[in-house]
Amino acid sequence: MPAPLKTEAIVLRSIRYGEADRILHVYTPYRGRLAAIAKGARRSTSRFGARLEPFFHVRLVLREGSGELYAVTGVDTIAHNAAIRDHAGTLDAAARACDAVARLFETDDPHPEVFRLLSNELGLLSSDPAHGRAGNGLAFRLKLLLAAGIVPQLGACAACGEQEHLNGFSAAAGGVVCSSCEAAAFGLDEDSYAFLVEALGRPLAQAPDCSDRGLRQVERAIVETAEHHAHVRLRPLLAAA
Ligand SMILES: [Zn+2]
Repeated sequence: MPAPLKTEAIVLRSIRYGEADRILHVYTPYRGRLAAIAKGARRSTSRFGARLEPFFHVRLVLREGSGELYAVTGVDTIAHNAAIRDHAGTLDAAARACDAVARLFETDDPHPEVFRLLSNELGLLSSDPAHGRAGNGLAFRLKLLLAAGIVPQLGACAACGEQEHLNGFSAAAGGVVCSSCEAAAFGLDEDSYAFLVEALGRPLAQAPDCSDRGLRQVERAIVETAEHHAHVRLRPLLAAA
């Protein structure tokens, strides 16, 4: 019998299964995304208690099961992030953060930096509802694009290399574009450009401020980049205007 797998994990989804079980989708530092069944987890006497809910940061002991599904044999809580559920805004932001990780990193490739980023994001959302604002969520997504290797080029026009008049964005070109290359691009205001640069350069807890119009441009840049370069559709954070 193979040795059990011990790993930190963040619960992305927890689905009721059968009479008393749960199927978990978790994200781990060195095994990427994986699925596991927790037998009897919904019984009141379960030794897993309530530690297998979304947003929990846990230490899991897993046994290889049939097919791709591991079986949970042990669980310890590292952080429950329970305060996320106190506000509709942070609950929604946390669900969308987990969804973005699940969509951009759906394999078992190791991305410990993505794990740390998600753990950081959930910790922030749990500690202060102010982190539920859109700027934080967009900064989080930009850092995910960086980890996925598809961060937009921002230092110079992605089409011709020009360093001035960078006032458009083209996912197809791979980043910001200058006014002469703007044909296939959408317009990017100065504050949107500044947000992209600063959000990538700062810790997640210090996501920059930006106008609503700017945030919509930033979101469009992120969504189109993920779609063009990773064929992933991210759920938008902002209502289309
Ligand atoms: Zn250009």
